Amino acid sequence: MLLKTASFVQYGERLLYNVPMTFHDFCTRLSTIEKTSSRLEMTALLADLFNTLQRDDVEPACWLLLGRLAPLYVNLEFNFAEKMVMRVLAECVDTASTKADNKERLSSVLSLFKSCGDLGDVAEHLLHTHAEDTRSILEVFNALLALAKEGGVGSQERKLQHMAEILRKSSGLTAKYTVRILLGTLRLGFSQMTLLDALSWAKTGDKSLRKPLELAYQMKADIGKFARVFLAEGEKGLDSFDIELGIPIAPALCQRLHTADEMIEKMGKVYVEPKYDGTRVSIHIQKSGKEWHIRTFTRNLEESSGMFPELATDRALDAIDADEIILDSEAVGYDPETDKLLPFQQTIQRKRKHDIEETAARVPLRFFVFDILYKNGKNLLHIPLYERKEILEQTIKRGSVFVLAPYIITDSPKELREFHAKQLSTGLEGAVIKQYASEYQPGRRGWSWVKFKEEEGAVGKLSDTLDCIVMGYYKGQGKRTGFGVGAFLVGVRDEKSDTIRTVAKIGTGLSDDQWKELKTRAEKLAVKSQPKEYLVHENLIPDVWMKPSLVVEVAADEITNSPTHSAEKALRFPRLERFRDDKTPDQATTVKELRAI
Ligand code: ATP
Repeated sequence: MLLKTASFVQYGERLLYNVPMTFHDFCTRLSTIEKTSSRLEMTALLADLFNTLQRDDVEPACWLLLGRLAPLYVNLEFNFAEKMVMRVLAECVDTASTKADNKERLSSVLSLFKSCGDLGDVAEHLLHTHAEDTRSILEVFNALLALAKEGGVGSQERKLQHMAEILRKSSGLTAKYTVRILLGTLRLGFSQMTLLDALSWAKTGDKSLRKPLELAYQMKADIGKFARVFLAEGEKGLDSFDIELGIPIAPALCQRLHTADEMIEKMGKVYVEPKYDGTRVSIHIQKSGKEWHIRTFTRNLEESSGMFPELATDRALDAIDADEIILDSEAVGYDPETDKLLPFQQTIQRKRKHDIEETAARVPLRFFVFDILYKNGKNLLHIPLYERKEILEQTIKRGSVFVLAPYIITDSPKELREFHAKQLSTGLEGAVIKQYASEYQPGRRGWSWVKFKEEEGAVGKLSDTLDCIVMGYYKGQGKRTGFGVGAFLVGVRDEKSDTIRTVAKIGTGLSDDQWKELKTRAEKLAVKSQPKEYLVHENLIPDVWMKPSLVVEVAADEITNSPTHSAEKALRFPRLERFRDDKTPDQATTVKELRAI
């Protein structure tokens, strides 16, 4: 008995009773985690899970905990609609326990779904008569992986059969979590950052290793691989965790300072570059024989490879004098007739995955390259920026789709101010200031990069916009009844407690089209109950909750203290600037940044 249920095996005894955990035991733990609202308790539960898992189960378990099958940088989605899952559930109901035919079963699935709003719960209810599920985590994971990879002619029907096979072997409990994973609705209320805390906890009983864990994770953003190495080798395993071509590195981000004087005082001699308003592209290129392999990643570490056909051209590749390279760049659309750079909204038309070739011809992109992180097997993160700039200039030939971002080098606030003003006058967003001898620091830390957006001392305007998470919406009144949304609630992240705290209720400043778009998006993200990570004052409870997914850029005039908003700050005259599909909730503004602004 002890050998069968790995969950009884205590830390330290792991090697003694080295048995794979069953998916059923794993789901029992998910269910306990789901019911826990204390962040600390959740971390301890996850740590206990990590300590009980067998080595080969660590990677799949990490992905499953995040409701996925692979790291973010691998495009692997199920793309199942609720309707398909309902059809399969109706087929899998134990026919011995009901005399209903398939049509009747389908309509009872539908009415159950209507009343409880979660197909995972429906699956648990309907399949609770199934026998115990004895499959291991790995078995279920592999079955799900095969299902996700199913493609080609007739794949839809095969997918349905495959899904039915998986659910027939499930118990009520395992079906509940399987369905949520299939639909992308598994929300246990924590982010990858809590997993890092839990890894630290698994080794030390506290969060003391969170910082080194985070630093190592930023170099190679693959939490599954990372957890496996760390659990087996501990802190010394982190030292061997180096960057790898083809696996994204968390991009360096900017801090905020208000004036040019402050910047020079804090950073000394700096590079000052234009701040382009396009989309961040990290470019990994490898030449093997006559073939080139190109992978690109977004700011939030998702793969975007197929999106930039201009990189896979002789013209682009001939410009690179290296066999292996990782470049950091901002891609901006331009008008092929006038050669002028285009606004952000036009650049990101590429994000819509269809008709890429057609969009690429209409809105070609230029890649403003500003850093090089890796060349021919060598990690360049730790050498000073001026050396990286030199290597960059030797490696990239001018005049292709790549443009080396122009810069000035200065230690004069006056020159800095003039450069910044010039960027604003040419319609750019401002400037990015980079410390002359700085290492490349993934993430937002240190003072190596600072952004300079608004004019110094501009009144009635914050020095920067905020990236907020849309938490829910209020139904419309008056004119906006037609849109179905009258206002929406937004929040920022509290990194310390891994929660989301409210900062504004926005009801103005949207065009009719934006209201409509918001409604369409909101409907897809609506959930029945308040997500666990939301901290919301009772006076602000929205009519419809939304799961944390949509990030919007918000401008405001001022930040004031607030007794009702849980961030303890509120935005004055908040207005929507744009939807930020290039950001995940993990990358939204934090409470700490809000205070700094
Ligand atoms: P914002 O919302 O202000 O566009 P952000 O929150 O996406 O910025 P920040 O860290 O504030 O990220 O600013 C860095 C971003 O600016 C980068 O992610 C990149 O997309 C963009 N950028 C434009 N020009 C440059 C440049 N010369 N060097 C670095 N980043 C640049």
